[in-house]
Amino acid sequence: MSSNRTLMVLPGDGVGPEVVNETLRVVDWLAKNKNINFNIKEGLVGGASFDKFGTPLSDETLADTMDADAVLFGAVGGPKYDGVEFEKRPENGLLRLRKEMDLFANLRPAMVFPALVDASSLKPEIISGLDILILRELTGGIYFAEPRGIDEINAEQKKGYDTNLYTTPEIERIGRVAFDMARARNGKVTSVEKANVMMSGVLWREVMINLHKKEGAGIDINHMYADNCAMQLVRDPNQFDVIVTDNLFGDILSDCAAMLTGSLGMLPSASLGSVDKNTGKRYAMYEPVHGSAPDIAGKGLANPLAELLSLSMLFRYSFDMKEEADLIDKAVSKALDAGPRTPDIMAKGREKVGTTGMMDLVIHKLEELTN
Ligand code: NAD
Repeated sequence: MSSNRTLMVLPGDGVGPEVVNETLRVVDWLAKNKNINFNIKEGLVGGASFDKFGTPLSDETLADTMDADAVLFGAVGGPKYDGVEFEKRPENGLLRLRKEMDLFANLRPAMVFPALVDASSLKPEIISGLDILILRELTGGIYFAEPRGIDEINAEQKKGYDTNLYTTPEIERIGRVAFDMARARNGKVTSVEKANVMMSGVLWREVMINLHKKEGAGIDINHMYADNCAMQLVRDPNQFDVIVTDNLFGDILSDCAAMLTGSLGMLPSASLGSVDKNTGKRYAMYEPVHGSAPDIAGKGLANPLAELLSLSMLFRYSFDMKEEADLIDKAVSKALDAGPRTPDIMAKGREKVGTTGMMDLVIHKLEELTN
């Protein structure tokens, strides 16, 4: 299957290039063994771009990224850039990409592979089989809305305040993504807010109820207060399928859910933008949750699986390649079942392996699964 789709690859800094290069071996494997091909473009971002062009994201790279069908991102940042002026810091390359692509929906799956059940802080019988998706609204709400500030009350006292503001269209567009995701999964959406004490929460619930009536055919929806959701995530996380929530609650609940699964080196994510009315294309960027890990960068020790699982999400949600995404997920699971592991997910009796060794194992499992 030859494809005219373009995959933009932005490895970035630190362990970013290490885990991206290993992940691209799976793209090569698919080309050789399943005849699946894409146009691949690579660009510099973050500190790597600053070193070459004096900016964390050049206009050329931005243009290539906007033209692509999906973006595979590594990580940016590192102590080398601590003294750089704020606008030119590596993280600003990532923030500009998010803004230009209007990436309003952040998807964080929390999946527990059978072999890593013991890495969770929860009991195996509670965490076993976990496969949930947290969908966080990323561009609105309390981190952006006005008014916000710190004002003087009098000579001794000040007041600090933020505004949690959402409009009907903002809630509807994240709600639609939740329904789409649930349709590709188990058909269940839990919408989370605090409609008991916040007016933005009252509107959120009202809009979600109306949207479900109009566009939620086949979706089972329930509504939950954010504090209860935090409790339920550690009490019985398997009750959820897709959780959809605002920027603030999503920030907290997605970190909580992520940690149910063990290591940072295993966590993929995706950010989706709006659909272009002319081309029908949805901007999308896929990246591991972890950063550039300067403490292990250059040592060949990083776990490449968060990056590889991000590619699997890209296949599933942007390229409509469910079969290949399932194959990758299965190969990762089998690679973890037996054999060596990277230091971050080390277990008793296992041999230690580095970034390349871990991907060798996954590719070996891909071969076993397809022969
Ligand atoms: P980090 O995620 O880079 O590292 C936290 C810890 O997790 C470190 O001990 C690291 O060694 C470990 N770790 C991370 N990824 C790993 C992997 N794949 N395999 C094994 N271990 C892994 O977070 P940090 O140390 O707070 O930040 C380092 C730099 O990354 C900073 O400059 C920060 O701004 C940047 N950062 C970038 C992103 C991004 O690009 N999206 C996200 C978070 C942090």
